Amino acid sequence: MTAKIIDGKKIADRILNDIKGKIKNMKEKPGLAIVLVGNNPASEIYVSSKEKAFKEVEGYCERHNLSKDINEMELLNLLNRLNSNPKVHGILVQLPLPEQIDENLITNSIVPHKDVDGFTSLSLGRLFSGHEIIAPATARAVIHLIESTGIKIEGKNAVVVGRSNIVGKPVAMMLLEKNATVTVCHSKTKNISEHTKKADILVAAAGKPKLITKEMVKEGAVVIDVGINRVNGKITGDVDFENVKEVAGFITPVPGGVGPMTIAMLMDNTLKAMELAEKVRH
Ligand code: NAD
Repeated sequence: MTAKIIDGKKIADRILNDIKGKIKNMKEKPGLAIVLVGNNPASEIYVSSKEKAFKEVEGYCERHNLSKDINEMELLNLLNRLNSNPKVHGILVQLPLPEQIDENLITNSIVPHKDVDGFTSLSLGRLFSGHEIIAPATARAVIHLIESTGIKIEGKNAVVVGRSNIVGKPVAMMLLEKNATVTVCHSKTKNISEHTKKADILVAAAGKPKLITKEMVKEGAVVIDVGINRVNGKITGDVDFENVKEVAGFITPVPGGVGPMTIAMLMDNTLKAMELAEKVRH
């Protein structure tokens, strides 16, 4: 079997185009504030591509570049201003933050209706209890890509490799919400392949290049690769793409899979945030 490639870029472009069409007819434009602290090269790239995509759909975007030495109070003050700025519907603080800053404190200082990353405890708690407000963009991207294959999630065995609060856990919860039987593997899981081999849907989000090999994948499985790893100057995922595509039914490439879809979902989250702002106002 040779897997069908899930073209995340193409699906994302379609969504962005729809969003652009919606924004064109709006009097008030959806506004996103992006906060970048320090100059982590990977973060710079992520922030620039989010900013570029937002400008392409003709939304309002402001970027705040802060020095890596900034203290917590200065950052909290900025977030307070953004929380009360009516032009800003969504606030995104690019992670990771420098050591002197408490990431949890900062993330949770964003008002929930502007939390377009879906990382505040309230947003995650709502997602985990089945009352989603705004779900993390990468997790939404994963679900969207699985559903794009036409395969029903309900009743399937889904295995998620990785259990971070921003990717693995929300993906697992969203799959559970869609009635999959979900197994979460992590760095302490013994014999990972025993689990992955049973997966009809396999999501790799560990940040380890080529962690998922052909032998670990069930024939015909849907394989979604969230990983972004730099190996010899090239971006690769967590899946040994060339070999796994011989057994999988569907597979996402890296780059061109989850990455562009995450950006499209972030734009969509900002539109959702704009609707929430309207509700908060009334
Ligand atoms: P993280 O480092 O916070 O978490 C990694 C998880 O993988 C941990 O739960 C850990 O237990 C697990 N893990 C690590 N090594 C493992 C192993 N050998 N076997 C099994 N599990 C293992 O990372 P994260 O923020 O969740 O991101 C995961 C990956 O996804 C990274 O490569 C990141 O760059 C990428 N990412 C991509 C997007 C996107 O838009 N495409 C967005 C966010 C993160």
